Amino acid sequence: MKVYADNAATTQMSRTAIDAMLPYMERIYGNPSSLYTIGQEAAEALLQARTVMAKYLGCEAREITFTSGGSEADNQALLTGATLGEKKGKKHIISTAIEHHAILHMLKRLEKQGFEITLLDVPENGIISAEQVRNAIREDTCLVTVMYANNEIGTIQPIAEIGVVCKEKGVLFHTDAVQAAGHLPIDVKKENIDMLSLSAHKFHGPKGVGALYVRKGVPLTNLIEGGGQERGKRAGTENVPGIMSMAAAFEETCENMEKNAVKVAALRDKLIAGLARIPHSVLNGDPLQRLPGNVNFCFEGIEGESLLLLLDERGISASSGSACTSGSLEPSHVLLAIGRPHEIAHGSLRLSLSENSTEAEVDYILKAVPEVVDYLRKMSPVWRDLVEGRKEFLL
Ligand SMILES: *Cc1c(COP(=O)(O)O)cnc(C)c1O
Repeated sequence: MKVYADNAATTQMSRTAIDAMLPYMERIYGNPSSLYTIGQEAAEALLQARTVMAKYLGCEAREITFTSGGSEADNQALLTGATLGEKKGKKHIISTAIEHHAILHMLKRLEKQGFEITLLDVPENGIISAEQVRNAIREDTCLVTVMYANNEIGTIQPIAEIGVVCKEKGVLFHTDAVQAAGHLPIDVKKENIDMLSLSAHKFHGPKGVGALYVRKGVPLTNLIEGGGQERGKRAGTENVPGIMSMAAAFEETCENMEKNAVKVAALRDKLIAGLARIPHSVLNGDPLQRLPGNVNFCFEGIEGESLLLLLDERGISASSGSACTSGSLEPSHVLLAIGRPHEIAHGSLRLSLSENSTEAEVDYILKAVPEVVDYLRKMSPVWRDLVEGRKEFLL
């Protein structure tokens, strides 16, 4: 059996998303900046796509800028916040310790440029509070950036409450909603969000395309200089097929959101209940305030990497830590931030489901994982030390 359980890393494109690209590769391939008909047809299509994205985010079409994906949108949002802050002599940015590297690495760069960064501590359940944000805001704070939902442990942050605090304090608020978009209802106006990033390939759209919502009146800083595309804020000929496909995928996923969430959450909860029966294991992230498709466990006495290889042999695609950190020996920064000790964080497994997942797949995973964990523990010297009492169990 083949089981794809890594939908937080990327998703399979939907038929709708694939079909939406084709006309813009085969027939309407004009450059949207050109004045003749097939160029203008492409330009009109872009406006339609922008309107669809805006509809499901609760904003205006002109508040959507297309990007090459979530990382670019995150980078541009942070640079925008920093540039606006610097103009006013404000060089303090607030974020959390569990952000995606597209945020954390850009914050490191800004720190080298003289910005002061406060990374809020994250409690064991993986959810920060709006109070923490309020307490961290200073006179010189120019930007708050808090992810909507975490890519590793699936926890959902109180974005609307943080939005209220930022609005009250007059601080720009960005959220990396790459894991949330298409999976959780989002309304940027109601939630007082100034900037929001999303990425098509996390909701069955194509890779290499995303969007940044920016509240009108907030002047974007360019990452890419060149032509006047995207109101002069993001140069480069638009990825028309990708953008059309993203809009189609977003519409499809948003229209089916509730139905999908109910189905996927039921599978998730079955998976969580089953894996929790493995001795010396722990669920990472809040059991309730989490993405419908996210399951993340630590198993004591094993290495996540070996677990992944053995699951792959059984046809299961899963992840340990985030895709970017796998292959390195550093355990996940997210698991460390919620207080998992190094040796526990090393034995982590993330399974992320989608509406394409089935009950039979979940049953298959629930048979495979306990067997593989058991097998690895039997070979592990660390496990022997634990069982024979030379070391204390942490879980
Ligand atoms: C995947 C992801 C990104 C990066 O998006 P890309 O489109 O792959 O650049 C950023 N943030 C989060 C939370 C993600 O899950």
